[in-house]
Amino acid sequence: MTDIKLYNTKTRKKEVFAPINADDVQMYVCGPTVYDRAHIGNARPVIVFDTLFRLLRHVYGEEHVTYVRNFTDVDDKINARAAESGRSIGEITEETTQWYLDDMAAVGALEPTHMPRATAYITQMITMIEELIAKGHAYEAAGHALFRVRSYKEYGALSGRSVDDMIAGARVEVAPYKEDPMDFVLWKPSSEDQPGWESPWGRGRPGWHIECSAMAYDLLGDRFDIHGGGNDLQFPHHENEIAQSTCAGHGFANYWMHNEMLQVEGKKMSKSLGNFFTVRDLLDQGVPGEVIRFVMLSTHYRKPMDWTEKKRVEAEKTLRKWYGQVEKADASRVSESVVAALADDLNTAQAITVLHGLSELNETQGLKGGLRFLGLLGDDIPSWVNATDMSAYETHMLEVRQAAMQTKDFSEVDRLKAAFIEAGLEVRMSKDGVELVPSAGFDAAKLEGLL
Ligand code: AMP
Ligand code: ZN
Repeated sequence: MTDIKLYNTKTRKKEVFAPINADDVQMYVCGPTVYDRAHIGNARPVIVFDTLFRLLRHVYGEEHVTYVRNFTDVDDKINARAAESGRSIGEITEETTQWYLDDMAAVGALEPTHMPRATAYITQMITMIEELIAKGHAYEAAGHALFRVRSYKEYGALSGRSVDDMIAGARVEVAPYKEDPMDFVLWKPSSEDQPGWESPWGRGRPGWHIECSAMAYDLLGDRFDIHGGGNDLQFPHHENEIAQSTCAGHGFANYWMHNEMLQVEGKKMSKSLGNFFTVRDLLDQGVPGEVIRFVMLSTHYRKPMDWTEKKRVEAEKTLRKWYGQVEKADASRVSESVVAALADDLNTAQAITVLHGLSELNETQGLKGGLRFLGLLGDDIPSWVNATDMSAYETHMLEVRQAAMQTKDFSEVDRLKAAFIEAGLEVRMSKDGVELVPSAGFDAAKLEGLL
């Protein structure tokens, strides 16, 4: 069996992955808060952990991997969105959840085995909070239940920081009912117009962190193998998950994996910088999901990744070339060097380098298998590869040529032809007509203004 090595945030080392039970390898990844479209950064953990899911299924067998990714459907951002839009919370979370599933499917992500919604696990959360209170790790105050951070000596071990360092660096909320500013909310009271559930502490709703502890315990049990998410979740979210589960008397994850953040053209993505966009924005602009996925996989998950227009163009060019090559392959096989690259702490950049090599050698079966393995190819070549509608350009070229035949001035025909070639089109002209065929380097953007 292939040895998989993974970098474990908890030990700060690359370790050989040894599952608790090779018949049921278990992974939990923190999912989205459903109040808006997923931005391009949100797609990074999805693609990273989808690739790991695929690798685990390859090594342990499809039926032997359980992947849980939750939906946070109770959150103050959702309440605020409902209030400002005049729509119901249920409508917003349902719509956003479906958007998320559609957009992530478009970037080639398989559906996880379980996709629990937080609101379906309120009872389990209440039970866990009661346990924490019974054991002295949590307390009730002013309709809240709070976790007593100082009661857990290991707090901060995941990120390797002391509680005092974390307080200094974090925006901890000071509140009169807290014993210590570091204590975090497990349960909070809801007003009449806020979503709420009956609990031993009155009508209220859960804080954010408890849901992952409760859902992981319910669906995966006392211990599980891998826990993943973005770097920004390490503290406080993941520290809090560990503290809650451990203090409630359960085990938790053995391997912690965190992807680095995505930036855009070298800058942090933010609405105020005007460089914020969603996965759907890109898809609507005609950027294929495979291209988005390819760009993501080109950078190792533990490195910051820069989304650039240049990378997008290059990725599309490479994929067009590869799809052209594998179209003729009648079989596919997964090359050992692709598996080896991924087994080395999910080195997707190296896997793509291997595919470049296979393409050079015109090893079409290995290339096809590699594209499939990385989630870049399904049963068929994606329709966008050949689907660009060239008819308007072809008609235009035909008209220009007819005019040139009259005037005997062919300079405009030559100019157009050169522009099509520059855009990566093969120009086939015969007496019957004009055909424009996108080749490997085709860039639709370069056609702009030609009509
Ligand atoms: P959220 O809905 O904000 O909790 O984020 C969902 C997931 O996206 C989490 O795993 C985050 O760590 C991840 N994430 C958010 N922003 C970025 C980014 N710019 N780059 C990579 N991952 C991100
Ligand atoms: Zn979580």
